[in-house]
Formats: sequence, C-alpha cells, structure tokens
Amino acid sequence: MRSSKFVRALPAAVTAVLALTAGQAVAAPASAAPAEHTAAARVVTYDASGAAEFKDAVAKGAAVWNESVVNVQLKPATSGQRADVRIIADDGWPRTLSTGLGSGTIYFGREAVDEGYNTVRISSHELGHILGLPDMKPGPCSSLMSGSTAGVSCTNPNPNAAEKAEVEDSFGLVGAGATAAPRLYRD
Ligand SMILES: [Zn+2]
Repeated sequence: MRSSKFVRALPAAVTAVLALTAGQAVAAPASAAPAEHTAAARVVTYDASGAAEFKDAVAKGAAVWNESVVNVQLKPATSGQRADVRIIADDGWPRTLSTGLGSGTIYFGREAVDEGYNTVRISSHELGHILGLPDMKPGPCSSLMSGSTAGVSCTNPNPNAAEKAEVEDSFGLVGAGATAAPRLYRD
C-alpha cells in the first residue's frame, strides 16, 4: 500500500531520475526502486530555537510525522537557513498560524501544558496543521487532530490512517506548497 501510493505520487522529474537509476542497475525492476523516506519527499524545515522547554517535544512530534508519512519530511533548519516553520513557546493556548502547505508559525502554548495535556501530542497536532490538516473536533484519542477534545488523559501523538493519507495526498500533488491565505488554528 505504502509503496504504491509513494510511486503514484512521484513527480515526473523524479520518476525520470529513478528510471535512469534503474537503467544503470540493469536488472532492477521498477518495483524494486527504494521506497525510502528520502527519495521524493518534500522537506519542510523547522526552527525550534524559540521553543524553550518544548524543544524536545518538537523533535519528537517531528519524528512521529517522519515515521508516519513518506511524501514530506520535517527537518531542523540548518544555521543561517530560513526555516519554513517556526515554533515559539508562549503562555497562551497552543495554536498554529498556517501560511501555506508546509509553512507557518506554531505557538506552543503553556496554558494547555499547565492543564496537563501531553506535550508530544500537542507538538504533532500543531505540526499536523502545518502539514495541511484541519481540526477534527470533537473526536476520539485515536485521532490526532481531535486535539484537546480527546481529553487531558489522551497521550496519543500519532495520526490515524485517514490523517496520514490526507497528508500524503496533499504533498503528493504537483505544485504542493503554493502559498495560501494565512489561517489560524486555535487548538
Ligand atoms: Zn488544532
């Protein structure tokens, strides 16, 4: 399933490169092309330098997504590089200002953390908004985008199958990432 979705989503240019590679490998059939996380994934860079005590939760949330999808990967921006996403700790409620698919600002609000909400779930939820997912509230703990409506006891940081598929589809489209009107998600 995963590899067929991956291949279908490959941009033409990448497919051409893979075809060349397969030619050089002589016997390698197309289906043996490495379906790893790197080949065609769009990279979205993030800057957690303003995330204060939540830097570790940001890294864990990014890792959750990197293990969940193949068409996009989240990586820390290198020094001097302009990041696609900034994460800023503040005293409000967690929220994300999306400025397009794969870009925006996450406010890692301490208000929810102080109430006991799980920091890695907050991180992966807000990153889900960056990756184009809306809130899906109210919802169960099995849904990442149900956010705070799943209750303070919910510690699940993983997107469900539908949430993963939506992100894969969004980033599998040619031209994904075109700027869109800014949108604020308050949760
Ligand atoms: Zn939300």
